[in-house]
Amino acid sequence: MGHNITITKTEASRLATVDFDNIPLGKTFTDHMFICEYEDGKWTNPRIEPLTLIPTHPAAMALHYGQAIFEGMKATVGKNNTPLLFRPEDNAKRLNLSADRMGMPEIPETLFVDAVKQLVAVEKGWIPPQEGSALYLRPFMYADEPFIGMRAATSYKFIVICSPAGPFFTKKIRLFAETTYIRAANGGTGEAKAAGNYAAAIVPTEKAKAKGFDQVLWLDANEHKYIQEVGTMNIFFKIGGRFITPSTDGSILKGITRDSVITLLKDKGFEVEERPITIDEVIGYHKEGMLEEVFGTGTAVAIAMVATIGYKDEELVLPEENPVSEDIMNTINEIKAQKQEDPYGWIIPV
Ligand code: PMP
Repeated sequence: MGHNITITKTEASRLATVDFDNIPLGKTFTDHMFICEYEDGKWTNPRIEPLTLIPTHPAAMALHYGQAIFEGMKATVGKNNTPLLFRPEDNAKRLNLSADRMGMPEIPETLFVDAVKQLVAVEKGWIPPQEGSALYLRPFMYADEPFIGMRAATSYKFIVICSPAGPFFTKKIRLFAETTYIRAANGGTGEAKAAGNYAAAIVPTEKAKAKGFDQVLWLDANEHKYIQEVGTMNIFFKIGGRFITPSTDGSILKGITRDSVITLLKDKGFEVEERPITIDEVIGYHKEGMLEEVFGTGTAVAIAMVATIGYKDEELVLPEENPVSEDIMNTINEIKAQKQEDPYGWIIPV
């Protein structure tokens, strides 16, 4: 490994206090974190140390102007208890795309991948053993320069923290196609995994939940008819035996699961079209009985099957059976657990 990452281990591990059969989602953090700083045009002092609070100046620019981006990825255990990562270089690349859009410095891909690998090696006892469970990794970068004024910051922190995650519910989700609020417009920040995108989604998501839905189905900013994505997932439609997923046009997050699912579907013999698709088109196919399966894709759950889609006063009820969605979900989870071959080179042992 090319980067000289200093490792300081805790003397008071909390690992023994964790009940792996009952992990509260997103609230338990492992013993250590990776951290490094960007100053004078370069990344310095990469280190793994006990997880601790970070002193923050009240003028830290991320708090005011929102230069804050993140990634989400998972470590699993494979054969012989080897910790595994799934396509970590793609997360590094996407973080840098986000950084470019938000006027933040890129981080060398090798430093990102080394940081994640070494942190996972230190925390490997925290990877939950049950199938479908994983150690969720959250790499993130933010502007910590104390300055009041509108420009790119000159200093940043890049940090990776880890949180064990139990098996997610494979409950089917109900989507609400949103025609008032939007997530992203052409020329905006939709393709970046920027903190502000998620802040802007909170109120629409809460309103959808109050109406009895689980997640928002985002439509385009201009005409409120082209489908973009769902909550924190990309979306796929199985229509008359083939699959359609919205093309990434700058306003959709380029999901790594999305890309993996496109590959798997094609290898299983399905036609996959990446193209603009409107909500009216989906409703039309549903009326003709051609809308066979709908699912979301994302790191958190891999595949989330969709039960219904609410749009204006209608609610489309989708077929109960989702054979292809289930097959794809099993394939992904088994590749991640090394129970199936990985002909794609997605699995990276730590
Ligand atoms: N869209 C959004 C807005 C997301 O936050 C995520 C989660 N990163 C995704 C799609 C799915 O991306 P991935 O498959 O890389 O997790």
